[in-house]
Amino acid sequence: MLKIDDLHATVADKPILKGLTLALNPGEIHAIMGPNGAGKSTLAYTLGGRPGYEVTGGTATLDGADLLDMEPHERAAAGLFLGFQYPVEIPGVSNLQFLRESLNSQKRARGEKELNGGEFIRLAKEKAALLGLDMEMLKRPVNVGFSGGEKKRAEMVQMGILDPKLAILDETDSGLDIDALKVVGAGINAIMRKSDKAVLLITHYQRLLDYVKPDFVHVLAGGRIVKSGGAELALELEREGYAEVVAA
Ligand code: ADP
Ligand code: MG
Ligand code: MG
Repeated sequence: MLKIDDLHATVADKPILKGLTLALNPGEIHAIMGPNGAGKSTLAYTLGGRPGYEVTGGTATLDGADLLDMEPHERAAAGLFLGFQYPVEIPGVSNLQFLRESLNSQKRARGEKELNGGEFIRLAKEKAALLGLDMEMLKRPVNVGFSGGEKKRAEMVQMGILDPKLAILDETDSGLDIDALKVVGAGINAIMRKSDKAVLLITHYQRLLDYVKPDFVHVLAGGRIVKSGGAELALELEREGYAEVVAA
């Protein structure tokens, strides 16, 4: 589904990704772990097409289509969802307006029928219930005054509504208490643990992986994948630290 081959990228002319290779098949959940500054967020932003992240070599395809050649909104319409460590606030736009416009613009881009008001509200209620988020929260402006946990739940509601093929979640666990972590983990499983979807979970700590069990774990260091393994690798990293495991 996602195939990244020898990807090189720079930020502010500084090389950050230096030959990163990774492949995700449908039905798989992969975790990427690594020390601070390793390039984890850079990978997510580069795949999302964020301005300022310049690809200087290599390829990335989603179901065979060249991701790097698409505009960010085209990547989203093609089925890519990015969840960010620091969700943005959008004063003056309610979550429901934002979500409905996001969904319908993707549907337009794919030539699918848009949802009308009633259909959209039913979908939003279903996904909000799944994530334990009150519908009243979704009537408020996007993320404004939301706690860390509420922002993440709202982001997972967004993921549920957009129903992507591939989700890349960058430190979705940061700032979550255990209750929120459980809800968010269960949400990821319910929405994305499917035979035709894949997830790339970027995380600094292994605790989210107690709730969302990865099929593969990769260590990103110095802009490349330096080690891959199963779920046990995350525990080993937690126990022994990156330096120890990467050197071994
Ligand atoms: P991680 O998410 O693994 O902690 P990042 O991808 O955020 O790492 O950062 C990788 C490297 O890129 C770091 O050295 C960081 O300082 C640098 N970097 C990230 N964003 C920028 C930026 N906007 N301008 C300059 N350097 C950046
Ligand atoms: Mg970081
Ligand atoms: Mg980061």
